[in-house]
Amino acid sequence: YEPSTRTSSSFMAAMLRLGGQVIPINNVQYSSVTKGESLPDTVRTLECYADVIVLRHPEVGAAATAAHYAAKPIINAGDGVGEHPTQALLDIFTILQELDHLDGLRIAMVGDLKYGRTVHSLTKLLANYTNVEFVFVSPDILPMPTDVLQVIQDKGLAFHATQDVHAVVKDVDVLYVTRVQKERFTDLAEYDRVKDQYVVDEALMSHAKERMVLMHPLPRLHEISYAIDNDPRAAYFRQMRNGM
Ligand code: ASP
Repeated sequence: YEPSTRTSSSFMAAMLRLGGQVIPINNVQYSSVTKGESLPDTVRTLECYADVIVLRHPEVGAAATAAHYAAKPIINAGDGVGEHPTQALLDIFTILQELDHLDGLRIAMVGDLKYGRTVHSLTKLLANYTNVEFVFVSPDILPMPTDVLQVIQDKGLAFHATQDVHAVVKDVDVLYVTRVQKERFTDLAEYDRVKDQYVVDEALMSHAKERMVLMHPLPRLHEISYAIDNDPRAAYFRQMRNGM
């Protein structure tokens, strides 16, 4: 129900490599959704023909709704501005692969923390580890939602929020950059005001630790300069490969 490149193709590739098959419905405009069929009826239809359903949908809670009506497993591949749990799994897999540890990690998440569902899920998942320290760097209008902050607080973990990426870059093990989610804004003037607030470039990376990783769920727009793609700390293409 929403655009997808990496998530949809990595799920398909993974299932095919496991020896399974896929019924791809990547464009619901050609399905009965256009005729007004509800999400419950759509999943009750598709589960007649498949053993598991991977769902991306613009509404928060859509995967939970689908799971309520379906007897077969539903995998949440993104529910609007809510969550992206499988991205979080590949993200912690990547951090482990790159840095060998999650406990004691200091991670800065940068950009659109309000509408960026990947950082919601990643924060909730990382909150299960010991002594993880979170730094949330966002424009004033795009802070991390309070329900996500509550999860960290409930685990007794530390976090702080700032607008200044320069002040934090030298201390972090992971710099996790996100795209400002234009499609979630109702006021495009607001989007224009904040869209380029953070740009990770060679100058910024020169202050980062030698052993750290720069991550991004992709797609990127201008928030990471192409000039640092070959920096060994730039892990976003390895991260993307880990999706499968
Ligand atoms: N691909 C990610 C998502 O679907 C991140 C993004 O779109 O910026 O949430």
